[in-house]
Amino acid sequence: MNLLQIHEPGQTPLPHAKKSMAVGIDLGTTNSLVAVSENQKPLVLKDTHGRGLVPSAVLYQAGSIHVGELARAALKDHPERVVVSIKRLMGRGQEDVMRVADQLPYELDTSAGGMVRVKVGGRVLTPVEVSGHILEELRGRAERTLNREVRQAVITVPAHFDDGARNATKDSAKLAGLQVLRLVNEPTAAALAYGLDKGAEGTYAVYDLGGGTFDVSVLRLRMGVFQVLATGGHVQLGGDDFDRAVAEHFLGERTRMVGAEKATTADVKRALAVARQAREHLTAHETGSWPLDLGGRLTWHSLDQATLNQLIAPKVEQTIEIARCVLDDARLEPSELSGIVLVGGVTRTPLVRRRVAEFFGREPLTDIDPDEVVALGAALQAEALTRGSEALLLDVTPLSLGLETMGGLVEKVVQRNTPIPVSIAQEFTTYQDGQTAMAIHVVQGERELVGENRSLARFELHGIPPMTAGAARIRVLFSVDADGLLTVSAEETTTGTRQEVAVKPAYGLSESEMAAMLRASIDHAKDDMNERLLREARVDAERLLHAIDGAICADGDLLEDRERKDVQRLIEALHRAMAGRDRGAILDGIDTLNAGTEAFAARRMDRGIQAALQGVAVNALAERLEAPKPHGRGRK
Ligand code: ADP
Ligand code: MG
Repeated sequence: MNLLQIHEPGQTPLPHAKKSMAVGIDLGTTNSLVAVSENQKPLVLKDTHGRGLVPSAVLYQAGSIHVGELARAALKDHPERVVVSIKRLMGRGQEDVMRVADQLPYELDTSAGGMVRVKVGGRVLTPVEVSGHILEELRGRAERTLNREVRQAVITVPAHFDDGARNATKDSAKLAGLQVLRLVNEPTAAALAYGLDKGAEGTYAVYDLGGGTFDVSVLRLRMGVFQVLATGGHVQLGGDDFDRAVAEHFLGERTRMVGAEKATTADVKRALAVARQAREHLTAHETGSWPLDLGGRLTWHSLDQATLNQLIAPKVEQTIEIARCVLDDARLEPSELSGIVLVGGVTRTPLVRRRVAEFFGREPLTDIDPDEVVALGAALQAEALTRGSEALLLDVTPLSLGLETMGGLVEKVVQRNTPIPVSIAQEFTTYQDGQTAMAIHVVQGERELVGENRSLARFELHGIPPMTAGAARIRVLFSVDADGLLTVSAEETTTGTRQEVAVKPAYGLSESEMAAMLRASIDHAKDDMNERLLREARVDAERLLHAIDGAICADGDLLEDRERKDVQRLIEALHRAMAGRDRGAILDGIDTLNAGTEAFAARRMDRGIQAALQGVAVNALAERLEAPKPHGRGRK
């Protein structure tokens, strides 16, 4: 991932800024849009008929590819040549895809393994290619309308898109000749379009009901950065489901009028199209009637808003239920929100608006066209990123950054997705008595074990004064600047001994490497955690054995013979447990060894105090007795 460069207001980083323009693209499941912004005034680019929405449908013919209205229209007569809803397949594994396969109107090819492919019009295409064709059309539209070259874009993605889907989206852009300035979450883009980033800090809900999917997100604005607090939704809940309810109603009426013939697939498709017209019409009108021409037999169907509301109410309530869960997730009451943003064509429906207002206890923001709001926000962001403006969202660290600790474990210092620039310090301590140097190993990645992350840098901190294990305080500071450059410094705070190293985390890690690392971290999260807990238990056991060993060497005369034998037995038992993989057995071994040496430790303490009182300064004594617990190594 390229981290973005942040520029001072007014400084343009593009040598050819006049010729080329960056656009904002809402790459939707049902419809896509392209918009551009100048002087912070964003505009959706329209075709010669004044239409801004480009249906996300692609028609594949022998020698040509068509995107948009024409492709959607061809769905009726040549469904085998048209791909729709490709966004549902972006970055999906074979298994996920098989789950949605029967809901897609085209054939899938999963024989090759790896990425799923779509069989259409005699071709076999990946979702990345199909999305690439849509993006190419949008880029072409922008170039024709603006009469300028378009090579860069901000593209929006659902907040819940995983890294696979995000990378797939970036790859489609590459195919379409577009450099992705940034992928922005759709709800964030909507919030930007409303200028919420310029307001005071606050928490917003974005309710997005589109053609096929529902998403609801809670965003928190803090210091100019939007953070997604919680997100939820349903991948099969949208205008299409409303259409189905209305179409069933029409077909039921028709059966009562002309007898009980069974509706064919083509009849259902026709009824769905009419249902959609009716539903959209009823957004602005109380009532209307529509002809249904099936098999040469015409019937008329009238519908009013009240009946429509009854038909769609269960689906609307489902969205409200999901919104309730997402708010719970974010631990928020509706009253704690600073505002609600509506996105998606279906939010024009009066019943949807009413229920959203009732649930959240306030009127949602609706000034901006809910179809356009995401693309407009993306355009604003594209302008900000290329022209330099104060309205910059900062970037985030793509992967976690951390340090190797005892036992080959990773202690994450900067979590993935932390907005940059950022500086985070963490304290570490020594592991052994008298330790005077410490190796600092900086790693990047999400896994719990060092070996499975990427090693970024190693350096050593020397000159730590000899102290009891755990007494030294070593402050390690991770600073990531706005360009994504990482500097790590380590300092022993009691003496001020310091070392520093600069590392470049974002460069040299290809996107596929990064995607693979993220995938691995998700796949292995549970394994890793168990492995980590096991290693931690072993480290704890080792530390205890080491300490007891030292104690016996120094004060072995305080042990009676029988006691010494018992302790030896417990030590051996713990060694045996450590050789195995049963964490519980290791922890039990630690507990019994601790208990079995309690009396010995008490006697040592007495001797120690007596020795200390013979001339050792009181504060040195306190330090010896209150050695801090090593950081992050507590038992879980
Ligand atoms: P997506 O984000 O999934 O691409 P959109 O936000 O473009 O989807 O929404 C498409 C949906 O919006 C369709 O189901 C369409 O019927 C619906 N829609 C568009 N205009 C209206 C309207 N005036 N009233 C009700 N629904 C509408
Ligand atoms: Mg959308």
